[in-house]
Amino acid sequence: MRCPACTSTRLTSIQIRLAPDEDHTFASCQACEWKGWFKEGSDVPLGKVLSLASERRF
Ligand SMILES: [Zn+2]
Repeated sequence: MRCPACTSTRLTSIQIRLAPDEDHTFASCQACEWKGWFKEGSDVPLGKVLSLASERRF
């Protein structure tokens, strides 16, 4: 994974399952403090993540 803001590869990441079959990675950049979401190696817009999270059912 590569930071979309500064292209650094120094990302700290954790895996979070937002919904069944929706495994996302939350990443933060050590170089520029960018934070964001990835799925399958591509960055995901925050609005998409929030809509998945709001659909979450327990
Ligand atoms: Zn960065």
